[in-house]
Amino acid sequence: MFAGHKLVDLSPELVPGKEDRRLAIREYVFDLDSTYMHDIDMMSHLGAHIEAPSHYKKHLTDVSKLPLSRFIGQAVRLNVKSVGKARPILPEHIQKISKTGVKKNDILILYSPYFGKDAPYISRALAEWMAKLPVKMLGIANSIGLEEPKRMFTHDFLMRKDIPIIERIQNLDKVPERFIFIGFPLRIKGLDSSPIRAVALVKK
Ligand SMILES: [Zn+2]
Repeated sequence: MFAGHKLVDLSPELVPGKEDRRLAIREYVFDLDSTYMHDIDMMSHLGAHIEAPSHYKKHLTDVSKLPLSRFIGQAVRLNVKSVGKARPILPEHIQKISKTGVKKNDILILYSPYFGKDAPYISRALAEWMAKLPVKMLGIANSIGLEEPKRMFTHDFLMRKDIPIIERIQNLDKVPERFIFIGFPLRIKGLDSSPIRAVALVKK
């Protein structure tokens, strides 16, 4: 079906008990047939995950209500190194860095070589620009700040427009600028966000 393509895993492996956020699995034997099962106890925002609008405001769309078509599509991934350390990322930067141009319904994915307080961050202007285009989703690695320092613009502009945010993805230097992104959340009613197996379908 996908001849001429390969899969690149964009999800970090999660190790129970070793993560910065809660993740525990408890093994037990299922009474009926003596098979092994697990209880999973984890935060919804751990590893590669999708944030749905109800993460930001409780009454907005939860993860089970977003259409399936949201979670798969044409991705454009950009290394925003040239923006510089701890600098706001502007729409002009995006258009300049992208060789193929960012178009309506693209899944915009950003990363940089900087982490922590050095990470460049999504500016208010960029959040507004993404919501206006609109992009299908925004994806970021840990090397991108989602909000301007002490502000909450990005969540506001994107979540009110039902544009989910993908966080904690990796291996973005192993994929070309354009590929098909796939990352489906669990269909659990009322869940604010969900772990996903984020995958890039890349032309060989
Ligand atoms: Zn999150």
